[in-house]
Amino acid sequence: MKNGAAAETATTTTPKIIHEPQVYLVGRQDLDRAEIDRFLGDHGMNWETDTEVGGEQLIEAGGRLCYVSYGKGRKTNEEYIGNIIGRKHGSVLEHAAWNFIISGVSRTFTHELIRHRAGWAYSQLSQRYVDESDASYVEPTIIAEDPELHETWQRAIETAHAAYLDLVGTLSAKLEAAGVKGTSRRKMAREAARSVLPNATETMIFCTVNARALRHFIELRGSEGAEAEIRRVAVQFLRLMQQEAPSVFGDYEILTLENGTEVTSTPNEKV
Ligand SMILES: Cc1cc2nc3c(=O)[nH]c(=O)nc-3n(C[C@H](O)[C@H](O)[C@H](O)COP(=O)(O)OP(=O)(O)OC[C@H]3O[C@@H](n4cnc5c(N)ncnc54)[C@H](O)[C@@H]3O)c2cc1C
Repeated sequence: MKNGAAAETATTTTPKIIHEPQVYLVGRQDLDRAEIDRFLGDHGMNWETDTEVGGEQLIEAGGRLCYVSYGKGRKTNEEYIGNIIGRKHGSVLEHAAWNFIISGVSRTFTHELIRHRAGWAYSQLSQRYVDESDASYVEPTIIAEDPELHETWQRAIETAHAAYLDLVGTLSAKLEAAGVKGTSRRKMAREAARSVLPNATETMIFCTVNARALRHFIELRGSEGAEAEIRRVAVQFLRLMQQEAPSVFGDYEILTLENGTEVTSTPNEKV
């Protein structure tokens, strides 16, 4: 457990190793039915939809405004959104957004994740404010599977971790002697000491993403060419979203490669 306000140094125990990323779907939208009915009533229209998913309702409500097709044309939400996807009217998908927390991932992962700019918002754990003295580390599966590689990796992690503890402690004492107080002292010590922490250091990130951007991410990062950790997260995103919003993510498949890892696939790329 990380603690932002805690002492400069905490433990010297063997760092915890993590092998599985976790994706939590923590927020979703609602359609305000009374307000949309007020709008429809003001314009002499009626509209019902068969989905209970707020994001799917909003995509349909937004798209139908273009041709004022409320109560006309395609009957189901799945048909309606399927047509939007098939015709690559991707901007309509931007009306739906979800909020996630991702934990148990490395700084390598978040470095790649935040390259996805359009339609994403991020809030990531700060290594300046938050003490990393009890940090965990994410071990790549291909290393974890081989005892010799695992030993080399663990040795490197422990060395880096010990150096971090050492640096935070020594820097704090030095800064205290120089009269630097409280939070400023801790921040200055941590921001310098973190330079020895490896890419494997566990982090967590809160992200908000719209349906179009999430589809793009799942395609690029769920592909065979993507790095192993981000690919696992892309597959987890897809599993969650196929449950959450099947009209928007139902055209994807999850395939298992010969090496046992999974990839995502859709006939409707880059909508
Ligand atoms: C297998 C793989 C290997 C990679 N290797 C590297 C690497 O070695 N080095 C490296 O630096 N990166 C690498 N990347 C990252 C890659 O270059 C992209 O930065 C990342 O995938 C985000 O893609 P994006 O720009 O399409 O996404 P987003 O930023 O989410 O943009 C989504 C889409 O919006 C449009 N868009 C966004 N911004 C603009 C803009 N400013 N102008 C015009 N259109 C815009 C584009 O159509 C874009 O595809 C790799 C990615 C993958 C999947």
